[in-house]
Amino acid sequence: MGFQEKYDFSLLVNEKEKFVVKELENQLKIRTEVCRCQECVLDMVALALNHTKSVYRVTLLGSIYAQADDEVIHQEIVDAVRGAIEKIYANPSHARG
Ligand SMILES: [Zn+2]
Repeated sequence: MGFQEKYDFSLLVNEKEKFVVKELENQLKIRTEVCRCQECVLDMVALALNHTKSVYRVTLLGSIYAQADDEVIHQEIVDAVRGAIEKIYANPSHARG
């Protein structure tokens, strides 16, 4: 039995993910021209996460939420999300609707 089958890796989460999703939601409020279909939103989140330093955590006891109160971390997320929106908006993975 390989490790992938033996252990539950879904307990491993990148703490930055929820902050990126929240920040994307915030920024898209004023970017009504940007497509927000499933594909584009997930593309934007993936792209933004690839430009932020991962903070993985094991969530055995539900979730222990880290706070993104660190100004540097917050700015990193804001910039990564802004960049991801521009990139996907300019070059969506589907035809423009
Ligand atoms: Zn789309």
